[in-house]
Amino acid sequence: TYVLGIETSCDETAVAIIKNGTEIVTNIVSSQIESHKRFGGVVPEIASRHHVEQVTFVLEEALEQADMTMEEIDCIAVTEGPGLVGALLIGVNAAKALAFAHNKPLVGVHHIAGHIYANRLVKEMKFPLLSLVVSGGHTELVLMKEHGSFEVIGETRDDAAGEAYDKVARTLSLPYPGGPHIDRLAHEGEATLDLPRAWLEEGSYDFSFSGLKSAVINTLHNAKQKGQTIYPQDLAASFQASVIDVLVTKTVKAVKEYKVEQLLLAGGVAANKGLRAALEEVFKELDTELIIPPLSLCTDNAAMIAAAGTILFEQGKRGDMAMNANPGLDIENF
Ligand code: ATP
Ligand code: MG
Ligand code: FE
Repeated sequence: TYVLGIETSCDETAVAIIKNGTEIVTNIVSSQIESHKRFGGVVPEIASRHHVEQVTFVLEEALEQADMTMEEIDCIAVTEGPGLVGALLIGVNAAKALAFAHNKPLVGVHHIAGHIYANRLVKEMKFPLLSLVVSGGHTELVLMKEHGSFEVIGETRDDAAGEAYDKVARTLSLPYPGGPHIDRLAHEGEATLDLPRAWLEEGSYDFSFSGLKSAVINTLHNAKQKGQTIYPQDLAASFQASVIDVLVTKTVKAVKEYKVEQLLLAGGVAANKGLRAALEEVFKELDTELIIPPLSLCTDNAAMIAAAGTILFEQGKRGDMAMNANPGLDIENF
């Protein structure tokens, strides 16, 4: 089966074609980062406008690169939510138009289910499994007992990990998106500053990053007032050490409690070198297999949407012309 995926939930317009759920035929991503950079974040109206301008080109490019026609496509998978409503709508409408014009089945995909299924493009999934989802808008531990079933066992109570990276980067006057810049700086510095770790109640798999973000801002502010110098490299390293410590410790605890076969890393922050290295180190000692997607499949793309869409298509899930963008779509029931 060939599934064509469309992703427009945030600031990348992406189209991909996946064969049999596991093989990438083509994976095109058109990023708008340059347009949003000067505003220090994603501007929803600008994102929608770019998606409208790009979606047809990206679609044509994907088919051309794959040397395929729409007739050879078995199903169209599209991100239904969560995300920016105006951005999602462009993808959903493009997918509905294509499905209608070519009389093809349509499947709506949850964006985070997509991030998790990026891992199936690397290795076959074995259940039960846990996924550590760390992205721009989400930080959660998701338990999967079978394909297409998602149970959130812990999630952030305030900021997402990627959001914390981007906000800390902004206070250090680094460009948007800040995650990769903090990651790079962190490797040039030492984690010498004592920053908080939000463990929350005993046994909780929830996360919290807003206290850490405030601590970083206060540390900078206080040093400035006292005329002390803080090296941004050391601040980045200390911040990153705190984030990784909490993420890795809670993940390992959950992996042991749920006795999972695999741990899948997912979301844009999965591109973080420090996090990847820390997980690889601790999983050497565990029986659970660790899967980490290549960088291109960590940040937003449509291959992951087509990969998740293939499973939903095989399970008989179908969308229709009444499909709508749903910015608040719930991963446990979609
Ligand atoms: P969501 O998937 O929750 O809807 P999103 O799609 O905007 O949000 P992603 O594209 O998955 O988010 O990830 C983008 C985030 O990943 C940004 O916050 C960015 O700073 C972060 N990020 C990217 N690379 C790195 C890195 N090397 N280290 C840390 N964070 C990173
Ligand atoms: Mg993005
Ligand atoms: Fe994402």
